[in-house]
Amino acid sequence: AKERLDQAATVFANTAEGVIISDLKGNIVDVNQAFTLITGYSKEEIIGKNPRLLQSGRHNPEFYEEMWTSLIETEHWRGEIWNRRKNGEVYPELLTISRITDKQNKTVGYVGVFSDITTLKESEKKMEYLAHHDALTDLPNRFLFNSRLDQSIKHAARQKTRLALVFVDLDRFKTINDSLGHPVGDALLKQISQRLLHAVRADDTVARISGDEFIILLENVISAENTAIVVDKLMTTFREPFKVEENEVRMTCSMGISLYPDDSEDASKLLQYADAAMYLAKENGRNSYQFYTQELTAVAYEHVFIENAMRGAIEKGEFSVVYQPQVDLNSNEIIGMESLIRWQHPKLGALPPARFIPIAEKTGLIREIGEWVLKTTCQQARLWIDKGLRFGYIAVNVSGQQIQAGNFSALVEKVLKQSNVPPGCIELEVTESFVMMHTEGNIQQLESIQALGIKLAIDDFGTGYSSLSYLKSLPIDKIKIDQSFVRDIPDDPNDMAISEAVILMGKALNLKIIAEGIETLEQLSFFRDKGCDCGQGDFFSYPVPAADIEKLISRGKLG
Ligand code: C2E
Ligand code: MG
Ligand code: MG
Repeated sequence: AKERLDQAATVFANTAEGVIISDLKGNIVDVNQAFTLITGYSKEEIIGKNPRLLQSGRHNPEFYEEMWTSLIETEHWRGEIWNRRKNGEVYPELLTISRITDKQNKTVGYVGVFSDITTLKESEKKMEYLAHHDALTDLPNRFLFNSRLDQSIKHAARQKTRLALVFVDLDRFKTINDSLGHPVGDALLKQISQRLLHAVRADDTVARISGDEFIILLENVISAENTAIVVDKLMTTFREPFKVEENEVRMTCSMGISLYPDDSEDASKLLQYADAAMYLAKENGRNSYQFYTQELTAVAYEHVFIENAMRGAIEKGEFSVVYQPQVDLNSNEIIGMESLIRWQHPKLGALPPARFIPIAEKTGLIREIGEWVLKTTCQQARLWIDKGLRFGYIAVNVSGQQIQAGNFSALVEKVLKQSNVPPGCIELEVTESFVMMHTEGNIQQLESIQALGIKLAIDDFGTGYSSLSYLKSLPIDKIKIDQSFVRDIPDDPNDMAISEAVILMGKALNLKIIAEGIETLEQLSFFRDKGCDCGQGDFFSYPVPAADIEKLISRGKLG
């Protein structure tokens, strides 16, 4: 028994937990070393005193009542409690109190064992903070934003005030990451968040909800016009270039705004509407903002309707392909053609590509559709080869999405093999804006396509941001001057100058040049005189079904 007592005494003295022993009345009879370390009271000071001395004042009398009830009924109590150190500091501890009984099971006193959980609490708090904030910018994240929005809506409902939700999406942020690297992208995001914070009032919330998306909650806004003033201010914060290391980076953004209670009283609807408005701002040419309106809902509905209709369109045979000849400007002979998709919907009628291709790209459906166009075009090429028709090549439009999928060149190779078409019969057109998002994987895909023996053309050239030096490094054979530069020739001297420059530059880089959208004889003469190789446009022929192409080719020259 003596040994056991000695052991107990050693544990009592050396344990890291504070131990406090009291008699039945609660008067302290002993404490250990750890107690002194944690509370600051020495043994001599505390013996004979009541543990009430340690109370922080943070708990109400019911708290202690419950503690006692539990002690009497279950013989112990365990919980977190705030106590006060001798120096006045309040700290949290995890405390277990048990009864001490004699041989007859009569209560003779109490023993409390506790540990200081200050650091635990602090890391808990930190975790809590991290769970609600974005680690990079320190702004609230989506989670915290949503709860603030809910609170603000309740408050605004009571006070009958208005709120504005501003959805901010950076324009082409991906190109920054891709071209200057992620550390620069991160630094830029931090600066942007600071500027946004400075542009709003202290009560407003700026949150970062994903990579390049921010959302701002403006409290107590008076009217839509008033909101526009704040949004204007937000837009101007982007006017000054950002300085990151030695780089001067220009960044623009698109914003969408929804208002409580005008647009909706529901938090998730307000978010959805601000998002939809932001998309319209993007479609309207970026670097702009847009308020949510009823018409926007109509746009969103059409989007959903078209998306659903497109899902079954391949199986239902609603798509077809037409071909538009491409002509040698010196001989007026057909040298090839572009395949263009057409969609005949049973209810909506004929839908132009401009109405459904962007939606197909947004939803990813373009991959399936693009593959269908490629297959259909190759089958047509095979039919013509079998018939002995000399059609040159057929150029197929390829969306960036298809290439980004990563296995595009393998797919092209497979389709060529399946349809038994030589690679020289097929050309592929990629848009300039896609090519300029120069990521390595994409360029590799283009290189392997070229290695198959397929020619590559840059479509819509002049609308992107190509630099000459960059073009030189690309696997490209041909440039298509965009329609928008051709349309106003010969009235617009600017367009003529640009077209001429593109032709000269292309020649210098050994690229073939084609002008698209030639509608008049004057346009044809202009491009021929400036040394442009070929042309495409309604002047020569509209896009027509395959059977009509056969007639055109057997007739010979066009125009
Ligand atoms: P794009 O590749 O630049 O195709 C040229 C567009 O210009 C075609 O419009 C064509 O009909 C039109 N066009 C040609 N000559 C003239 C002209 O003289 N005057 C005028 N006003 N227009 C002319 P379309 O067929 O409506 O196609 C529009 C766009 O849709 C295409 O532009 C292309 O970006 C996309 N697209 C069409 N088919 C496909 C496809 O199979 N896959 C993908 N990814 N995109 C496609
Ligand atoms: Mg094209
Ligand atoms: Mg084009």
